[in-house]
Amino acid sequence: MPGFEFFGDLERKEVNDVLNTGVLMRYGFEGARDHYKAEELEQLISDRMNTNHTHLVSSGTAALTVALASAGVGAGDEVIMPMFTFVATFEAILSVGAIPVLANIDATLGLNATAVEKVITKRTKAIMPVHMCGAITDLAPLQELCKKHDLRLIEDACQAIGGTYNGKPLGTIGDVGCFSFDYVKTITCGEGGAIVTNNKELYTNAVYYSDHGHDHLGADRGKDKHPFLGYNYRISELHAAVGVAQFKQLDKFIEIQKTYFTIIEEALKSVVGLTFREIPEGGVQNYSFLSFFLPTKELTQKTHKALSEGGVDATFYWFDNNWHYHTKWEHLKELTTLGNVSKTIKDNLPDYSNYDYKASDEIISRTISCLIKLSWTEEEVNERAAKMVAILNGIV
Ligand SMILES: *Cc1c(COP(=O)(O)O)cnc(C)c1O
Repeated sequence: MPGFEFFGDLERKEVNDVLNTGVLMRYGFEGARDHYKAEELEQLISDRMNTNHTHLVSSGTAALTVALASAGVGAGDEVIMPMFTFVATFEAILSVGAIPVLANIDATLGLNATAVEKVITKRTKAIMPVHMCGAITDLAPLQELCKKHDLRLIEDACQAIGGTYNGKPLGTIGDVGCFSFDYVKTITCGEGGAIVTNNKELYTNAVYYSDHGHDHLGADRGKDKHPFLGYNYRISELHAAVGVAQFKQLDKFIEIQKTYFTIIEEALKSVVGLTFREIPEGGVQNYSFLSFFLPTKELTQKTHKALSEGGVDATFYWFDNNWHYHTKWEHLKELTTLGNVSKTIKDNLPDYSNYDYKASDEIISRTISCLIKLSWTEEEVNERAAKMVAILNGIV
């Protein structure tokens, strides 16, 4: 998945453009510059994603936060999110004062609409599906729920850039979508993120909110008005410059990932008892991870250990991973924070220990994901696939 594996002259050229003018900020200083890397990258993303608006921010977590705030999600509102994701999802929800409500996933590794419907209340404001590990949450039934209950659909597509659903790029199907360009994502710029939307009002909110509320209407930043309170989630020109070079290679990265993914997938099809993560109808993944299921938790744990010890690196067993699964989110479940937490959050946080996690546990305890690396050679991928099959056949 990581774009950093292909870091080179293209990135250096873009960064040098910025260093040569010395204007490291995306806004202002018109007299001292002849390029705007953040704006250039926003245009590239809008064109590639066929979306009206793109706004860059400082990280994927910032993108989620700004998306929620721009959609009017605030204190005490409930946002439904999956039990399998990165901690950033609930961090963003808490940071706008809202309440993370967890719902079970299914064999797509994404939110299950039936599970989501069960936890909708009068306070629910948004559903936030997360397209984990390069693939796709079945969005159509979630769109139905949003229509029926007047909710916002906010897509966390941080791990799925380049994937599509019914012909549309992931991230552009909900009211607003979020991407991350952190160092281990398909496209990296060191630290960065983006929100995409076709909704002009959401976009304008995002632009203002991520820059202290600046309305950007005049030529003089100091004279801008501040229609509402904001924060600083701006991206720097240096980061955006790296992103410009990386984003232009997105299709190349996905092509390579697809080739390597397919070699491994074809080989693993021979393992009896192994099944693959489900791709919903109309979905095309970005091939950044290959995820599969084994018949039992015990066999899966044994296999994961054998793969690591057998030299097959970059495989993940999420069930006991510190960052991606509810089993290790005790800091959320116990609300462990540095300072006092707002009364609204304290009073309204669900008792997560009463949740029924069975459906998700049953899936994630049997899941192994393999990162697909861009820097492998085809020969290495063939060797890796053969090694995996040998190890798996010895266990399953
Ligand atoms: C990486 C990631 C984020 C956060 O992105 P950062 O840029 O690291 O803040 C959010 N959600 C998911 C699913 C991610 O993988």
